[in-house]
Parts: sequence; C-alpha cells; structure tokens
Amino acid sequence: MPRPIQATIHTTALRHNLERCRAGAPDAKVWAIVKANAYGHGIERVFEGLRSADGFALLDLEEAQRIRSLGWRGPILLLEGCFEPRDLELCSRLGLWHTIHCNEQIDWLAAHKTHEPHRVFLKMNSGMNRLGFKPASYRSAWVRLNALTQVQEISLMTHFSDADAKRFGQDGIAHQLAAFNEATQDLPGERSLSNSAATLRYSAQDLRTDWIRPGIAQYGSSTDYPEHNSAHWQLQPAMTLAAKIIATQDLAAADSIGYGSAYVAEQPMRIGIVACGYADGYPRIASGSNAKGTPVLIGGQRSRTVGRVSMDMITVDLTNLPQAGIGTEVTLWGRAASGAVLSIDEVAACAQTVGYELMCALAQRVPVVVD
Ligand SMILES: *Cc1c(COP(=O)(O)O)cnc(C)c1O
Repeated sequence: MPRPIQATIHTTALRHNLERCRAGAPDAKVWAIVKANAYGHGIERVFEGLRSADGFALLDLEEAQRIRSLGWRGPILLLEGCFEPRDLELCSRLGLWHTIHCNEQIDWLAAHKTHEPHRVFLKMNSGMNRLGFKPASYRSAWVRLNALTQVQEISLMTHFSDADAKRFGQDGIAHQLAAFNEATQDLPGERSLSNSAATLRYSAQDLRTDWIRPGIAQYGSSTDYPEHNSAHWQLQPAMTLAAKIIATQDLAAADSIGYGSAYVAEQPMRIGIVACGYADGYPRIASGSNAKGTPVLIGGQRSRTVGRVSMDMITVDLTNLPQAGIGTEVTLWGRAASGAVLSIDEVAACAQTVGYELMCALAQRVPVVVD
C-alpha cells in the first residue's frame, strides 16, 4: 500500500469559486489565473473546473503551451509578457496575448515579424513599483505601441498592492485607482484592474474593470483572513491535503514528543503519528509547542499538532478522541470526509504565512487525485 497521504483537487469547488468571483463583477470577463502551476493545484487538474473562464492568465510560456494542448482555443495572457525577443515567436504561433511593461518589450515587438497582429495589455505601475510604466510615461508607451503594425488592440492594466486591507489607514486601492484613472482618462481600450481581493472587496462598476483577474479566490482562500474567512466570502476549498494515522503512543506526564522535545506532556495523553511531514509541503513552522499548536481535523474533529513537524511525520493530540487510531483520516487543510472544513488560511496563519504559499508548496511526492 502506498504511504497514506493524498491531495484532492475539487472540481466543483473551483467551479463554484469562479462563479462566486463572477457574481462580484457580473459585467466583467474573467481571467482565471493559473500561474505557478495553478497555485500548486496542477494546470491539467484545474482545467475542467475553470474552463468557464473567459481566458487563462499565467507567466510561464511552457504553461501557456500546456493550456493550448488541453484544447483551449480562447485567450491566454502572459502576465509578465515576454522575457526575450524570441518569446514573441511563440506568442504569434499560439496566439498568446501578452503584457507590455517596459520599453524593451516594445522594441522587441517593433522588430518582430508576424502575420497576425498581437493583442497586448499595457501595464501601468500605479504605485506597486514592480512592473509597468509610471503614470507619466504611460501615454507615450501607448502611443508608441499604437503605431506598430504588430499590434492589434491595446488593453489597459494595473495591479493593486493593498486591495486586501487599508493602506496607511486609508482605502487600500484609492491612490492607485486615482493614478490609473487620471493617466488613462481618454485612452480607448478594455481595462483590467481587479485581483481576487479587489474583486471581493470592491465594486467592479466603481473600478470600471472589463477583465477581473482572480487567482487565490478561485482556489478557495480568503484574501483578507483573519478579517474575513473563506466562509464569509462563500468560497470553498479547492484543495484538500489528507493523510492517515500510522501509529499511536500513550504518554505519561513529563514525557516529551519528537525532535528537540518541543512538547512535554502535562498529564497522561494519547497522540497520533500522521503520515505527513515537511517533505510533503506541510510547514515545519506549524510545529506544536505546549503553548500553541496548529489545527488539524481527525476523523473530521478538530485537534492540534503537538511536537515538531518532521520530514515524514507530524504528531497530533488524540487525548479527547478515543475512537481515533491507525487508519483514521487526518485533514491537514481542506474538507474532511464528514464535510467539516479546515481552511488553509487558518493553517497558514499558524505558520506565519498565507494560503498561497502552502498551496504552491505541495510537494511532488504527494499523490494528487481530482474529484
Ligand atoms: C497573481 C496575479 C493576480 C492574481 O492575484 P490573486 O491575489 O491571487 O487574486 C492578478 N494579477 C496579476 C498581474 C498577478 O500577477
């Protein structure tokens, strides 16, 4: 029997979450963001659940090829555009739409030979200060692009840094939205502004966004946990990581657990050894000390980690779960067989990170099934 650990990708949850995002922006088209191998879920595994999107957006040209080979003929957008001139050949061949965020990318396009002109998204750096033209140089970039025979249509795009919270005590997107609106005032073209957080927290009409770009929300994670959890946003987990108990131990008071004796039993207790460790992508920092553990579901019931996370195992408290034993299902995040949900955001918070990082870090050795 293979080691009892498995991840499950939930097609119905992906479908539900995508519709939930659409409901937040009913007149907009949806880019399903599937970068980083669909946030660790696997592009091929999420394709069915997300195929009602209007397009797929990602960074990696190899991932774009994978979507085309799944038979997708609709739009695909490269969110960082081309990394070198010859990437444009693949854009022409596969009909990829691409972001233009710097002058070099315009130079490359101007020198590119293509039968079909390209659909491009011109990116503004409205305050995030990663990719894009500053508001003051945006219009001249647009004019340059618009003069190229290689360009079919230009869309206008920016990305928010603080859509999930306030920024310096103010509305988190206000400064960027104002900069974008001002610099694009009389420019034609579709606009793309909202990531998941902006889709959930702001009205699409106010933003005037023709294309929303939800990533994390499709996968069922709340963008602003702990202010709001995924249940508040009516999102469902798209990934479950589950393993089984492979051994139990009865401890006396003062016995310790695992490496570094990081947890010491305060009274007699029973623990379970679970077939999941950091080599599976479970964060080591989610180890359980006496003061604090990370939640897990054992047969659908909440308990916590006790002792350090090791490479292949974690230890969990079974003291109040006498029916649990070898073979009992342990849900590390996602949905248990009973229907109980442990949000990845809650686990991530215990590991001082965000749901994004845990999803993306699911290890290669974990078998994945799609339901
Ligand atoms: C990753 C990404 C998104 C999606 O962000 P989420 O927070 O996951 O919704 C949207 N736009 C761009 C440009 C991105 O790189």
